[in-house]
Amino acid sequence: MTDSSELFVYDCDGFTVARARPAAVLFPVSTDEIVKIVRVLNDADIQIVPRGSGTGLTGGCVAYDNGVVISTVKMSKILSIDIENRVAHVQAGVRNTSLSDAVAQVPGGAAFHFAPDPSSQRASTIGGNAATNAGGIHVLKDFVTSSHVLGMEMVMPDGSIVNLGARNGAYEAPFDLPGLFCGSEGTLGIITSIWVRLIPKPTSFRTIVGLFASRDDACDTVSEVIARGHLPSAMEMMDGQMVKLVNDTFKLGFPPETDGLILCEIDGIEDLLDAQMLDIVAIFNAHHAMGVKTSSSPEERAKLWKARKASFGAIGKISPSYCTQDACVPRSMLRQVLKHVAQIGDKYGLTINNIFHAGDGNVHPIFLYDDRDPAQVDNVMAAAEEVLMYCIDVGGTLTGEHGVGVEKIKLMPYLFDSDTIRQFQRIKESLDPHERINAGKLIPSDRVKIELSSPGRHVPQ
Ligand SMILES: Cc1cc2nc3c(=O)[nH]c(=O)nc-3n(C[C@H](O)[C@H](O)[C@H](O)COP(=O)(O)OP(=O)(O)OC[C@H]3O[C@@H](n4cnc5c(N)ncnc54)[C@H](O)[C@@H]3O)c2cc1C
Repeated sequence: MTDSSELFVYDCDGFTVARARPAAVLFPVSTDEIVKIVRVLNDADIQIVPRGSGTGLTGGCVAYDNGVVISTVKMSKILSIDIENRVAHVQAGVRNTSLSDAVAQVPGGAAFHFAPDPSSQRASTIGGNAATNAGGIHVLKDFVTSSHVLGMEMVMPDGSIVNLGARNGAYEAPFDLPGLFCGSEGTLGIITSIWVRLIPKPTSFRTIVGLFASRDDACDTVSEVIARGHLPSAMEMMDGQMVKLVNDTFKLGFPPETDGLILCEIDGIEDLLDAQMLDIVAIFNAHHAMGVKTSSSPEERAKLWKARKASFGAIGKISPSYCTQDACVPRSMLRQVLKHVAQIGDKYGLTINNIFHAGDGNVHPIFLYDDRDPAQVDNVMAAAEEVLMYCIDVGGTLTGEHGVGVEKIKLMPYLFDSDTIRQFQRIKESLDPHERINAGKLIPSDRVKIELSSPGRHVPQ
């Protein structure tokens, strides 16, 4: 694809503040085609930019410096599903939910699934999930994508093909190379196919919804549930502003004084769940929950998760644009972090709502603004940077699940000392000495100049 009107679509990903027009977009269908493309681009010293579905939220697949995008979306074959060994082999462009849908169709497969569940899972590719080490609502118990990747085939920046890891999980090697490539955000090579783990689908659930008049109490509840040894499959939280919005939109009947809501799910062996649920309810009550509702009904569960997933759409009712930040903090700091985020909002004159993966401390402050006004975009970017720095200051990380891309690269030296950054650069240099693939993303580099200036919409999860 070289027509400029078509290339326009590939200017950005979900973080639309980062924009650059690629020189071309290529849609290979096989590993061999990728090898040929990489060699041609190498000879011409042209930047190679891997891309899946472009749902990333950090500008990771944006082609700066006249780069060429290699999109994997046409590499969407499920190569094998082996229920006996609970393994599947897929091309990198297979969409996340397509795999579980296909697994459910094979004999004996209905009981298994590919667990990583980013909210973008209907669109995002498994290659993109591995490259960003994607999280999701249920990774609290099931862990992030890297825990489900057994092996991968990659085309390296020099055009060589390598096979890392194993097809069946029985693998012992000097380095955990699939672990290194998961989360490398397309800076070390192009993932062409992946062997993934299939795990049993949970069959019994309890859903617990707690309403709190104090956001602080809700935060402390989250921390205590985990500290007491429970491992819910998901534990999400909304602050009062978000509850009001969701309530108004979906008519859920929450009392207007609600300042914090926890949506907690446990799963496991049916006979043990009620006792665990009662223990969690007792923790909610000990932290002054105004009301706690429990359910084992699949319909009720589906309704609550639908409202959770649709909650971001509801923001469109109150703001023309919004931008979600993403960091992880120690759960015990959630109360302080939300308070400080609100103070930053006051300082910058911004409304910030919070709906987030509380169980794993993955905060997602949502900044409301109008992307048609460049001054507001700059204001949001400055506030977002301050939020991230505070999260790092309290012992947190720069990213919870969205990755670094170009959005957060400026803060890499804030989190990591120069010796550590140098080690990251050495890994990059050893695999991509001429910085031909996705330079300027994730790992600070002088090779490609990145500018974040255009106003635009940032679609959160
Ligand atoms: C509505 C919405 C909800 C979201 N929810 C979540 C969530 O719950 N959890 C979460 O973690 N993220 C979430 N995201 C972010 C995003 O969906 C994930 O990062 C996802 O893994 C990106 O997959 P993709 O196929 O769209 O990759 P892209 O956006 O195309 O690329 C992402 C990065 O991976 C690299 N890459 C892509 N494919 C390959 C490949 N084959 N080989 C090497 N590198 C590659 C790219 O260069 C880029 O750096 C959400 C995004 C949206 C828009």
